[in-house]
Amino acid sequence: MSDTTIINCPSCGVKNRVPIHKLSMGPRCGRCKTPLSVSANNASPVVLTDANFDSLVGSANVALVDCWAPWCGPCKMIGPVIEELAGEFGSRALIGKLNVDENPVVAQRYQIRSIPTLLFFKNGNLSDTMVGAAPAQQIRAKLLSML
Ligand SMILES: [Zn+2]
Repeated sequence: MSDTTIINCPSCGVKNRVPIHKLSMGPRCGRCKTPLSVSANNASPVVLTDANFDSLVGSANVALVDCWAPWCGPCKMIGPVIEELAGEFGSRALIGKLNVDENPVVAQRYQIRSIPTLLFFKNGNLSDTMVGAAPAQQIRAKLLSML
């Protein structure tokens, strides 16, 4: 029986251990002070932006970045796959989502012309790219080969 819960910070991805009795008191991330959503869970991909991309992806051994946009139909199909992978690999790899409309600097740097595009990084360096909604098994196999 546990009296704490783990909430992934939606901004920096850090895992915060939060006492259950404090959930109603507006808990904040211990590192970046972003408010933690009570409904958030361990399976949430990290929200990447032009501002945090380099520090987060650069410090991860392995990172998967789903480049997407709200108007993109195939992106909606791959969304649940990314969520699932975040729950599966969240402790061993950075699983993130980048809205290409809101973050043009990163999108242009990696020349994202078609979405969804999945970027795979090893030690901060781009190691592979998948364009289109790849099957979950293919993405999972790629991540496993990089860990
Ligand atoms: Zn945080």
